[in-house]
Amino acid sequence: MTTASKLLQWYKRHRRDLPWRKTRDPYRILVSEVMLQQTQVDRVKMFYAAWIPRFPNWKRLASASNEDVIRMWAGLGYNRRALMLRDAARQVVERGVPTTTEGWRAIKGIGPYTSSAISAFAQKKRVMPIDTNIRRVLGRLLLGKPFPQPRDDERIQKVVNDFLPHRGNYFDVPQAIFDLATDICQKSPKCIECPLRRECPSAKKFLSGRVRIPKQMIKKAVESRHAEKLYPDRIYRGRILKAVRESKNGMPIGRIGPIIDPYFDQIVDSEWIEKMISRLIKDQLIEIVRGKLFLKK
Ligand code: SF4
Repeated sequence: MTTASKLLQWYKRHRRDLPWRKTRDPYRILVSEVMLQQTQVDRVKMFYAAWIPRFPNWKRLASASNEDVIRMWAGLGYNRRALMLRDAARQVVERGVPTTTEGWRAIKGIGPYTSSAISAFAQKKRVMPIDTNIRRVLGRLLLGKPFPQPRDDERIQKVVNDFLPHRGNYFDVPQAIFDLATDICQKSPKCIECPLRRECPSAKKFLSGRVRIPKQMIKKAVESRHAEKLYPDRIYRGRILKAVRESKNGMPIGRIGPIIDPYFDQIVDSEWIEKMISRLIKDQLIEIVRGKLFLKK
């Protein structure tokens, strides 16, 4: 039995029941993929369930305004994703639904990972999308590298062709890898429970107990933040957007500071808040009309 067949057999018994795995509709798969970027699966399930009835297809989403999509995205975070998704829908409506990975890649906002993911999950193409999870499993399994890095993607793509089956459910292999990455092949893997431990050259290394997580992987990502504030700016930008969304007749700029931060100081913090408002305007999420902040129409 090949390694991929073993993996698929394990997947059959352990696969997570996710709504976007029950469809081959490229629209729904794109929605799920964009929502899953930087958001936990359980949260995405809730938002996906609300999004699909409201925007069931490319056309309905393409005709939505910035305000419509920002309101529906409320609470999911990284709000630019909502506009990117709507803009992608507009391109699909204009040019037709792509049928190749390259075609998806040509849609502005869709990167190499997402284009391969839609091709595999919606259109059963024999391709391997590589994100952090897939890189971790395949780098360990195919390259024998306990902690593979993005620079290893090219090598993974070269060898993955021999790993992927030519027939059967080869298009399920990436989903099976996701689940293996979530349940077993985590940053500190549970090789002893892994169905691929016999085939995996990294298993011995981990089981010997001599492999340590490299320091650069422990370092936290650097986010922009005000030295005196509790949270990164991203959190305060989210609060500005929430306040604007919930204001009935627009939010006067002068009132926003104390709403998003109880320690706001008009003199010391005004430059900080202006910068965050400018960023939200640049991202097309809000606009200023006669001194008040509104969601971008
Ligand atoms: S044996 Fe260990 S390192 Fe290899 S794929 Fe399984 S969990 Fe990951």
